[in-house]
Amino acid sequence: MNIFVLMKRTFDTEERISIAGGKINEDGAEFIINPYDEYAIEEAIQIRDSKGGEVTVVTVGNEEAEKQLRTALAMGADKGVLINIEDELEDSDQYTTAKILAEYLKDKEADLIIGGNVAIDGGSGQVGPRVAELLQIPYVTTITKLEIDGSEVTIVRDVEGDSEVIQTSLPLLVTAQQGLNEPRYPSLPGIMKAKKKPLDELELDDLDLEEDDVEAKTKTIEIFLPAEKEAGRVLEGDLSAQVKELVDLLHNEAKVV
Ligand SMILES: Cc1cc2nc3c(=O)[nH]c(=O)nc-3n(C[C@H](O)[C@H](O)[C@H](O)COP(=O)(O)OP(=O)(O)OC[C@H]3O[C@@H](n4cnc5c(N)ncnc54)[C@H](O)[C@@H]3O)c2cc1C
Repeated sequence: MNIFVLMKRTFDTEERISIAGGKINEDGAEFIINPYDEYAIEEAIQIRDSKGGEVTVVTVGNEEAEKQLRTALAMGADKGVLINIEDELEDSDQYTTAKILAEYLKDKEADLIIGGNVAIDGGSGQVGPRVAELLQIPYVTTITKLEIDGSEVTIVRDVEGDSEVIQTSLPLLVTAQQGLNEPRYPSLPGIMKAKKKPLDELELDDLDLEEDDVEAKTKTIEIFLPAEKEAGRVLEGDLSAQVKELVDLLHNEAKVV
């Protein structure tokens, strides 16, 4: 099986997010593998271990994403590919990312491509389906189970808490949902081995792409933090007085009844 994983380096949303100059301030923030992509990497490794083949993890980003690629290699992936666009593009959106990934993948004869369901920062959930559309292969999103028998594939996907069973065939793109597996932590031998695994770096030129071919189709006009929540209020006194006060507040202050 020739398996590719689409991996995004994201800032840790456990971090306190601030905005400076109309952009999310990344200074001092911790960066991680997008958590949904960890499920994708784990699934790819398990399939490779049971069916043979190779796992290549691909990211579009800048040099700093090498760290997350090495982590994926330490988990057990075989190869990493960084498509470095930092000095080449000023703006980028989902179209840009998907177009670059599809251009890279188009002659790789991938049997299976696994991405995350959504990136925890950008959060559009567009990249996987866009890549599949560009490659003209089927795709199934938010999967929680994947079984491969020859070229036949049976998938369970999460539909807002319910499950849907889908049958399809390779080559295929899927996006991983929480519950697909339990991603492993890189082991110490895994970390040592990862240092020697291949990590290729490509630029747009290597993919025969010009800046115009991948120009963003959207423009971010404004980014802002949600309004701060007001402090809660605890009602006191006997129960009937509290109920009376609550109804009064809902009616006159919140104006919801
Ligand atoms: C140098 C640089 C500059 C950027 N500038 C801008 C900008 O100006 N405006 C802007 O809006 N965005 C910018 N981005 C973000 C970029 O456009 C996003 O990576 C892209 O839009 C993905 O959208 P999303 O975060 O909604 O991902 P989603 O579609 O939610 O991600 C779903 C899945 O797609 C895959 N995926 C997503 N992104 C990548 C990736 N980069 N590489 C590999 N797999 C991926 C992963 O499997 C992920 O789990 C920039 C990114 C880089 C690296």
